[in-house]
Amino acid sequence: MGIIKSVDRLQPELARRTRIFLEYCREHAIDVCIIETLRRLEVQEAYYAQGRKPLETVNELRKKAGLWAITESENSRTVTNTMKSRHMEGNAVDICPMKNGKPWWNAPDEVWEEIGILAETFGLDWCAGGYGQTWGKGWDNPHFELMANFPGN
Ligand SMILES: [Zn+2]
Repeated sequence: MGIIKSVDRLQPELARRTRIFLEYCREHAIDVCIIETLRRLEVQEAYYAQGRKPLETVNELRKKAGLWAITESENSRTVTNTMKSRHMEGNAVDICPMKNGKPWWNAPDEVWEEIGILAETFGLDWCAGGYGQTWGKGWDNPHFELMANFPGN
């Protein structure tokens, strides 16, 4: 139940590239963490309801999915635009910079860019950085997918 963070649950090639990237980050003291890998339907339903349904409904869905309750202010914004997330087949991984041992969600653009551009050199497509993104830069900074036509393929 809850959020799945295991890299093992990703599709094999995405898992392989993610591990190489994480290893590089460890070796170079770049502090990042995995936020989510594979996503179950119940979790996607709860995410999709956020910002669209009343708080009570959202928190019922979240409870069913094994997630913690959110607040009214958190429920004032949407967090996904789809019920067909690439996470649901293990084709996406969310990676966040860390600060003081916690995800650094509001890190400055330069920090996100460092991670995003670096990950792209390992064949992870940083969707927020350009390719495939439809909601504007910064909307979904932690989101990475398998880069097509990666030279290392
Ligand atoms: Zn994602």
